[in-house]
Amino acid sequence: MRTVLLITVSGENMKRIRKARYIRFQQCTMPYLAGLFPKNWIVRHIDEETEDVDFTKHYDLVGLTFHTPCAVRAYEIADIFRKKGICVIMGGPHVTLAPEDAFRHADSIFIGESERTLPLFLADFEKGTCQKRYTDTETVDLKDAPLLLKEHFHRKDHTAGSMFATRGCPHACEFCAIACMYQKKFRTRPIEQVVRDFSTFKGKVVVFWDDNISADLEYAKKLFRALTPYKKWWTSQASIQAGEDDEFLSLAYKSGCRHLFIGFESIAQLSLDQSNKSFNKVEKYREIIRRIHSHGISVQAGVVFGFDSDCPDIFDKTLSFLIENGIQQATFNILTPYPNTPLYNRLKAEGRILTEDFAKYNSRADVVFQPKHMSPDELLNGFQYVNKSFYQIGNIFKRLNNSRVNLYWTLPLNLIYHYQFHRFHGF
Ligand code: SF4
Repeated sequence: MRTVLLITVSGENMKRIRKARYIRFQQCTMPYLAGLFPKNWIVRHIDEETEDVDFTKHYDLVGLTFHTPCAVRAYEIADIFRKKGICVIMGGPHVTLAPEDAFRHADSIFIGESERTLPLFLADFEKGTCQKRYTDTETVDLKDAPLLLKEHFHRKDHTAGSMFATRGCPHACEFCAIACMYQKKFRTRPIEQVVRDFSTFKGKVVVFWDDNISADLEYAKKLFRALTPYKKWWTSQASIQAGEDDEFLSLAYKSGCRHLFIGFESIAQLSLDQSNKSFNKVEKYREIIRRIHSHGISVQAGVVFGFDSDCPDIFDKTLSFLIENGIQQATFNILTPYPNTPLYNRLKAEGRILTEDFAKYNSRADVVFQPKHMSPDELLNGFQYVNKSFYQIGNIFKRLNNSRVNLYWTLPLNLIYHYQFHRFHGF
């Protein structure tokens, strides 16, 4: 038998940022990839957010997945295991976006999706003929995706874990790493496989870790009909098209959807237009939010600050908009140019990238580029001001009173966020 340790890398900075959120979605990459290992492998998974890596243990192989802000921590882990003579492999978003960065710290790297390349690597590993790079330039057919191995989720939070029904997004927003990684290709899993993963979760709440569950409205409607008998609650990310289709919203609610993360990004149309996201129409936002609420689904707004047309008044304007429209939750991000995205390439060409220290590419605690109409400090302070104000007690009551959707859990959740914000000095 051989033993592999799979690690979902986090690192101190990201752990602190994520701890401030009460509900932290568990990443499902490793619990899926675990299903690709043949029976002669013992698979162990550590999610660094809940468990420390024990460097004294021996493994035949160590595999790491990570996003850009966790790259520095991933390289630290890799260097320690490699010094002990253990083979280290790496994949995930950062490796696909910036392979040369990861290359120096791994025995093998996986560029692109690894459902097809990991089995090739494992065959090579047995023969002792591993390559340095395993590249899949095509996107995989999700009917071949393995089923989720739930024993590899270890966090004790309010969700039993996460899963996915679709992958990718057909859009190509300038700042989005998803569009680069998946080449704008949106794919769906066979509904019976999704139902198998969904129905066997022990908990009541399931998180769909999809990039945009509303990208194919007809697929989504079929999926929701199939999920309805299981009487679970679920949430996912969606684009604003989700809020324009009453049938989608009605079927989503019946199947257990109680909360949708909607990528509004900005309340300034010019920012959206300049980011290749002109399909978001700010003039429609109010009606879309009203319609989602009318179906009993609360709204988490995804908002980004730092676009080229953002001036210092964007913070107060955004806050007022979110309060007036009774938004239940919001995730605010500082615009971050992930490596090799169109945004990164443009800012690099304009000489506006301030640092290549990827630990600072966290979207919450650091500004890594020169904004156009503010200083980096103004952007950071404005971001922190909105975050804090959104979860101030007075604003919580105003927001929730303006929509009154799912109050029995959105109110306690907001109060917990208020408490967490002060405990961790910001998200
Ligand atoms: S709609 Fe969302 S997921 Fe799709 S490319 Fe734009 S930001 Fe990325």
